Amino acid sequence: MPLSAVYIDGGYLTNVLRALGKPRIDYAQFAAWCAQGFEVFRVYYYDCLPYQGPMPSWSCPGCNARLVYRKGLSIQESSILDQECEFCGYEIAGAWD
Ligand SMILES: [Zn+2]
Repeated sequence: MPLSAVYIDGGYLTNVLRALGKPRIDYAQFAAWCAQGFEVFRVYYYDCLPYQGPMPSWSCPGCNARLVYRKGLSIQESSILDQECEFCGYEIAGAWD
């Protein structure tokens, strides 16, 4: 049987699941569904911010306030507290320290 690798864009999937009421999913079943009958050899899950240029910032989807200002790979300012926007409380998925 032909093998397949399934690449899951975690950022996109998180947004889709959020729009559907945050259902829990079985990733093994999801990967099998994505493979469309092929045997699943590997599943890769990745999640990163999209490219934002040399002076990136990131805005809240709920209120459009700037949440993160980065310089290179370091975060210069952050308005994410307990995984929520400090201005409107919108839940921000990910790990923020
Ligand atoms: Zn907000």
